[in-house]
Amino acid sequence: QNKRNENTISEPHASKNEEQKELIEESYEDIQNKRKQLPAYKCGNEILNIVRENQVVVIVGETGSGKTTQLPQILSKEYGKKIGITQPRRVAALSVATRVAQEMNVELGTLVGYTIRFEDKTTKDTRIKYMTDGILLRETLKDSMLYEYDCIIMDEAHERTLNTDVLLGFFKNLLAKRRDIKLIITSATMNASKFVQFFPNAPNYIIPGRTFPVTNIYTRFPVSDYLESAIQQCVKIHMSTPLNEDILIFMTGQEDVEMACGMLMEKLIAVYSSKYQEDPDKLQNEICIFPFYSTLPQDSQKQVFKPLNSTNKRKVIVSTNIAETSLTIDGIKHVIDCGYSKLKVYNPRIGLDSLQITPISQANAQQRSGRAGRTGPGTCYRLYTESTFLFEMYKETIPEIQRTNLSNVLLMLKSLGVQDVLSFPFIDPPPKVTLMTSLYELWSIGTLDNMGNLTKLGTQMAKFPLNPNLCKMLINSIALDCTEELLIIVSMLSIPNIFYRPKNAEAEADKERARFYVAGSDHITLLNVYSQWRANRYSSQWCKKHYIIYRSMQRANDIIGQLRSIMDSIVKGNMRKSRRYNSNKTNTILGIHDNNTFSSWKNVRKCIVSGYSYKNIGKRVGLNKYISLQNGMPLQLHPTSSLFGLGDLPPYVVYHELLLTTKEYITVVTAADPIWLVEYNLLFFNISCTDSAQQEIAENIQKLKEKKLKRLQDDKAMFNSNAIK
Ligand code: ADP
Ligand code: MG
Repeated sequence: QNKRNENTISEPHASKNEEQKELIEESYEDIQNKRKQLPAYKCGNEILNIVRENQVVVIVGETGSGKTTQLPQILSKEYGKKIGITQPRRVAALSVATRVAQEMNVELGTLVGYTIRFEDKTTKDTRIKYMTDGILLRETLKDSMLYEYDCIIMDEAHERTLNTDVLLGFFKNLLAKRRDIKLIITSATMNASKFVQFFPNAPNYIIPGRTFPVTNIYTRFPVSDYLESAIQQCVKIHMSTPLNEDILIFMTGQEDVEMACGMLMEKLIAVYSSKYQEDPDKLQNEICIFPFYSTLPQDSQKQVFKPLNSTNKRKVIVSTNIAETSLTIDGIKHVIDCGYSKLKVYNPRIGLDSLQITPISQANAQQRSGRAGRTGPGTCYRLYTESTFLFEMYKETIPEIQRTNLSNVLLMLKSLGVQDVLSFPFIDPPPKVTLMTSLYELWSIGTLDNMGNLTKLGTQMAKFPLNPNLCKMLINSIALDCTEELLIIVSMLSIPNIFYRPKNAEAEADKERARFYVAGSDHITLLNVYSQWRANRYSSQWCKKHYIIYRSMQRANDIIGQLRSIMDSIVKGNMRKSRRYNSNKTNTILGIHDNNTFSSWKNVRKCIVSGYSYKNIGKRVGLNKYISLQNGMPLQLHPTSSLFGLGDLPPYVVYHELLLTTKEYITVVTAADPIWLVEYNLLFFNISCTDSAQQEIAENIQKLKEKKLKRLQDDKAMFNSNAIK
């Protein structure tokens, strides 16, 4: 399984079913009728009553019962200001807002809108606002009383994302200060008791709903390849059950979803050609396969919800866990559950968060099964043994707060004025050692002072919806006079994928990609892509020609605009620096650096290096191997790195991401001059320069280090005794 994920650059699946005639557009009447059938709709009045009488209500209901789409509409009858609904996933916020706008027969972005990071589709008249939990958390920084809202629904609270947990703690304090605000916590049928314990006066309202029994079928032996097994199982179901019974397959991520869709088609063609030799079109008439994952283009996502126009045709949806509780697709009769999902895991060995394929918990498994029993009895094929389910899976997924790095959250709390983060009311307190490590990290990059208070840098950083590394780069770019360049680089790093690598044209795509390489820096390579795109008047044709994803580039443009306005607000308060930073200087990059070589980018490189902390530094050992400076772990340069274009690999690098597959790959890498490391980010690690030709540098480093080290050690001792008690 790992091997498949090594290739991170895969094609964004333009659904083969793009313009399917067999999909039905629902009429307004259909939509209203469907709405009225939803359990949540039916208990609208009861819900209004209970919310009227209580400040906090915990509402539990089966997935698909209409919590997300109906509750805001119900509450808007009574609550006049703005209703905010938080979602753990961007895609859910967007998709559900679209649906609700449709149900209310208004244009999306007017009465109903959504806000996700870097994308705001609301106006001042918006009354129902879907957003990610991260967005609401950011809003609390601007207005810690949340005066704009009179009602907040924290949806999908059972997911227990980091942001949700912090918001819960935040509300614990806010509720007493704003007696008029209502908080509704909704949860699928799991983990709800936790919330009731946390808000002791909150009633727990259960939306009555009918579910049908689902038969779980386990494998007899552990499967060696869940992808293969899923395909086999799906073919088996398809050959043996009526065509109006749809199938939902749970995979872990975009890569294996795409892979499964392809393999399933191949397998079916093989089976059909032996079975129906004389009628090769039969397959087309019998089955529609849809991939479903969060980065799928919106249009393709919408298709998945539409009913087929024939009952003699089967829908197969291959999805990541977004279909587990966030988004409900109707008509599913069979579920195939691979038993894994991708989870952000803090790995203390490497000191970083990474997405890892992880076994799901029993609660997840039950939710997945549940998808098969919404309209009648169903079946769930679990691609694991019953004993795995009973004895190896956790009962519930460990909340994110207990398995991730907390730097961002702590920075947020500090900005909210929470001095003593160790006693913040967390619903499940994170391990103390994680808190302390994260505080230390914040101090080490200069966001906290020796007393544990936010520094000026820290205050500025909290303004950006970005991780601390990227914030720091942007802020440092002011002094290094390369803000334009860094705005582009940071924005390009904030979108998942830029390079397009279609299945049958890998070599061609790689060749095109290589044309943009600025040997020695993958960060600057990204800048180069952007500059050339801009020089070609932001053309979509140009993107197509060079295997660049146009949609991603447009997104980068949006992000640049938003980050620029935050930068402007920072620079405003600083006259000396504002002279250097000219926000209108947009067309100069190619002019300044028309020679795209490594050495001409000194300030930009320096600035990139300055952003990363000791956790993102690699040190070369031998000719082409790197190890982590922090802990000696071996690191591999990703094959797509532009660093291979240098004659010799540089002795030190900074990297943006660590990709855990069969090997530990570092991606988006830039060569780092050791002296910059000492100057900007090195604390207690040994940077050396063994190359005798660089004797002078080595001596400089030594001097700088000695000077710094003593002071640092004093500072660290002071921080430890003041800020971490
Ligand atoms: P819950 O939040 O309780 O899980 P939802 O409110 O999300 O339930 O879903 C209620 C119904 O609305 C389901 O039948 C679902 O299929 C439908 N629905 C939700 N989002 C969409 C969408 N984007 N397009 C079409 N139907 C949708
Ligand atoms: Mg929901």
